[in-house]
Amino acid sequence: MSDVRELFATLTGRVADGVWSAPGRVNLIGEHTDYNEGFVLPFAIDRRTVVAAGRRDDGLVRVASTFAAEPVRVELTDLARVHAEGRLRDWAAYPLGVVWALGEFGVDLSGVPGVDLVIDSTVPVGAGLSSSAAIESAVALALTQLWGLDFSRETLARVGQRAENDVVGAPTGIMDQSASLLGSADAAVFLDCRSLVAEVVALGFAEAGLVVLVIDTGVRHAHATGGYRDRRAACEAGAAALGVPALRDVGIDDLSGARDLLDETTFRRVRHVVTENQRVLDTVRTLRTDGPAAIGALLDASHVSMRDDFEISVPELDVAVEAATSAGAIGARMTGGGFGGAAIALAPADAVPAISDAVEKAFATRRLASPTRFTVTPSDGARRDG
Ligand code: ADP
Ligand code: MG
Repeated sequence: MSDVRELFATLTGRVADGVWSAPGRVNLIGEHTDYNEGFVLPFAIDRRTVVAAGRRDDGLVRVASTFAAEPVRVELTDLARVHAEGRLRDWAAYPLGVVWALGEFGVDLSGVPGVDLVIDSTVPVGAGLSSSAAIESAVALALTQLWGLDFSRETLARVGQRAENDVVGAPTGIMDQSASLLGSADAAVFLDCRSLVAEVVALGFAEAGLVVLVIDTGVRHAHATGGYRDRRAACEAGAAALGVPALRDVGIDDLSGARDLLDETTFRRVRHVVTENQRVLDTVRTLRTDGPAAIGALLDASHVSMRDDFEISVPELDVAVEAATSAGAIGARMTGGGFGGAAIALAPADAVPAISDAVEKAFATRRLASPTRFTVTPSDGARRDG
């Protein structure tokens, strides 16, 4: 935190007005349910993106990041044109995209003073922990408070999503930004992706002595984007064939009838989404009635459904999940969009070293590159730090 203040001082020659931060997230359960208007249950993690911000009075936005040597600058009154010309690119598309999106949400960009932003982060990039939502949420909250704007955190989540969809060009839902902005210590964000109503649900990991081990396989498949698009299309086709606006409207009891109306592959895609939605609801209920140690079977079933019905797992993720479960995890599943990325294992804190070793050995036996492993703790969402 002090580092980002120092960097701000070095780059701008003055003292930052404040420091804000926002976390990455892990999705505990509810995969590929967001665009089907269903349910997700992510939590904010103890890896954060930090933004030092200082007002300017000349209508200029300058952003710098520890990721990039060169700061990027743009006139606020030029931002719409620069975006229209496709010149908001690379990492700067995230923070400047947020500024642009604030304009789309009603902020008069010729009436705000300007800003210097300096960004640092401990959220690993591209590991499925949403470093993108972390940077968007940190910038969105910083600008809101620095410029005295009147936006709820729910609206800021939509601002971040808008930046990611329209400026970065990634067709993502609102889960990541919601987790990053609405998360709370030892709690998850239970989000209804149709109504966008979010509820904070206590996890109780601390009291139960549980942690989440992230196992990043390091696998990043080039066909992930195509695979994601294909699964979305299958879900849309399934919903159309079943005569519903979205798969959210299909319940477990409807599945036997759906089998006759869908081809075999589409049926399995639909079954994943329908059962996954139910598993999110069951997880929330189980957390409330029996506590976190009782949700393991739901996590395991989620993985099996993604592996067999949705077919978005890869051998490395299956190996990680199997090894973690055999070595004492309460439950484990791949998390994120699939075709690589990370798995998570919910485990007693004292079992983590053994689980981590077992995963390492399982990978070595199969001649797979050793996966990166680290624990995450459910943490507070975006906030002002100083
Ligand atoms: P992730 O799964 O981590 O969200 P994305 O591809 O969605 O992966 O977003 C990662 C991108 O976000 C990076 O390539 C970079 O452009 C941007 N980004 C994330 N964190 C930072 C940061 N601290 N500074 C600059 N850019 C960042
Ligand atoms: Mg992302």
